[in-house]
Amino acid sequence: MTILISAAFDSGNIRPTAIADTQVTLEIVRDRESDFYQWFHFRALGVRGRAVSYAIANAGGSAFPGGWENYRPCWSEDRVTWRRVADSHYADGVLRFTHEAKGDAVWFAYFAPYSMERHDDCVARIAARPGVGLASLGQTLDGREMDCLTLGDGPKQVWLYARQHPGESMAEWWMEGALEALTDAADPIARSLRHKATFHIVPNMNPDGSFRGHLRTNAVGVNLNREWHQPTADRSPEVLCVRNAMDASGVDFAMDVHGDEAIAAVFLAGFEGIPSLSERQSALYARYQDALVARTPDFQKAKGYGTTPKGRANLAMSTNQLAERFGCVAMTLEMPFKDNDDLPDAEFGWSPERSMRLGRDCLGALHDIIEEL
Ligand code: ZN
Repeated sequence: MTILISAAFDSGNIRPTAIADTQVTLEIVRDRESDFYQWFHFRALGVRGRAVSYAIANAGGSAFPGGWENYRPCWSEDRVTWRRVADSHYADGVLRFTHEAKGDAVWFAYFAPYSMERHDDCVARIAARPGVGLASLGQTLDGREMDCLTLGDGPKQVWLYARQHPGESMAEWWMEGALEALTDAADPIARSLRHKATFHIVPNMNPDGSFRGHLRTNAVGVNLNREWHQPTADRSPEVLCVRNAMDASGVDFAMDVHGDEAIAAVFLAGFEGIPSLSERQSALYARYQDALVARTPDFQKAKGYGTTPKGRANLAMSTNQLAERFGCVAMTLEMPFKDNDDLPDAEFGWSPERSMRLGRDCLGALHDIIEEL
């Protein structure tokens, strides 16, 4: 029986180039109107009981080839539980792995997918809870709404937004964890936060790219996290409408949630290079990092990106733009595609469950500093 490979579904991405018995050769498809690619998500059918070898032949040309070192793809036979393949290696620009399925079909993905269907379900569930508002801040180029959930009635303006880079699906798993925590009527931290702050939450900044199976860009190949200085309706309406809403509300604290392809750790990136950097901002950012270290051993400060010298920040990136624009505390949270190497899990690697738990812990750390914002 010939193995059938397909990816024509929500967040799917792959192109089979050769299928010979149990040897499957594949390519990841570029984001539309862009050279970026790394996200993959596909189904293999006709694989029951067969030891199938998969090769992603163009892995070496992807956006972050360092992401394939010590990386293991995610697989699922029920599209609910995603485990890591046991046997995977990257050499000569090709990612190879093998898998023997128990059933007829198996799904593989770069990380456990977070579909637009799940997004819609999550938004509907959270919006139905007491005290939660749902609005659209604008429309995407493909005509999707930019969902924003609001809750709380306190004076501090808190913005949480995720998935500017659509292939970083862990970012929306984080959002689901944060939203569940914030709407948990029995959670004392959530109750206190909702009294002290007003939350504006955009669970998915890039729904078009998410549905299209993109890694890094929207429907016209634009990296949204390089648009925050000058967003336009033609190229980046997603950023334009969110930034306008931020201008209307003001911002005291902002977190932009991402995933990192190469670094096997959870870390934060700040705004050290902005021209108007204040001691108050720097001190509060440091306080937040220490609060998160105290909350969870899945977070650390040793590994991460280097800091930019003062005045050299790229103000097209959201964290820098917001810290400069509002004088607020802004940060970019990065979770791994691989695992947290300090606390590894051989079966699941970094996972949806760990992303959701981190969402809850990040809110706990926010509660530790919110009076000082
Ligand atoms: Zn990112």
